[in-house]
Amino acid sequence: MWIASNAPGSSTSKGEENSQSARDDPRIEALIASIRAHAQAVAMEIGACDISPAVLRAIARVRREKFVPRHERMLAYADAALPIGHGQTISQPFIVAYMTELLKVGAGDRVLEIGSGSGYQAAVLAELGAQVYSVETIPELAVAAQHKLQALGYRNVRVRTGDGRKGWPEFAPYRAVVVTAVAESIPPALVAQLVADGRLVIPLREPGGEQWLTLIEKHADGRVSRKELFRVRFVPLRHS
Ligand code: SAH
Repeated sequence: MWIASNAPGSSTSKGEENSQSARDDPRIEALIASIRAHAQAVAMEIGACDISPAVLRAIARVRREKFVPRHERMLAYADAALPIGHGQTISQPFIVAYMTELLKVGAGDRVLEIGSGSGYQAAVLAELGAQVYSVETIPELAVAAQHKLQALGYRNVRVRTGDGRKGWPEFAPYRAVVVTAVAESIPPALVAQLVADGRLVIPLREPGGEQWLTLIEKHADGRVSRKELFRVRFVPLRHS
């Protein structure tokens, strides 16, 4: 069984300067190679684990060092989750890449993220040209993520403090929803706020304690299907 640890597009709407320096960084090339290798290893376990060039390009354009605390910068381009304070983590880049892939979003799509954390996953989605709405329960993290994303030139991301289990109804429906903390069950509001044919990617904790990355699809006829992909490790989705 494969365990991936988290426990923790178009760049029209963000600074070109930022994109340029990220592309020229050899550490980012190494990170992309690690993500590819990790995807291959997972594919051997689950059959397929494709990460598209568009998603890898989006990852390559984000300067992850800006999303980790100063003393963690040395490890910013390691394919690993890192602490970001308040007992939370920035997700492992492979997991960010794969969750992003599963969402199947492109330019102009509205995406809801639950668990802004450092703002890194939101930046990757923004690089694909998505309109990103992100909810974070810890006010300090929400404010810091919003400021960082703004400073880096991401105009297509909004962050707010709140309980993400309720979604963000004002901007619904969303083409996709991504939850970056592990839930005991699927919050009904998140399915309700999806478009027909929308996708929800969420780590779910099973009664035995194992966490499974899960893809929920809401079909045009209203049916909801569920597919468990592989085991993961995320911080808990809090009840606030
Ligand atoms: N996506 C983040 C990873 C965040 S870790 C990144 O790229 O850095 C999970 C985050 O979910 C934590 O910041 C945690 O505070 C937040 N969280 C936990 N429960 C939540 C809830 N009910 N609503 C919104 N955010 C929540």
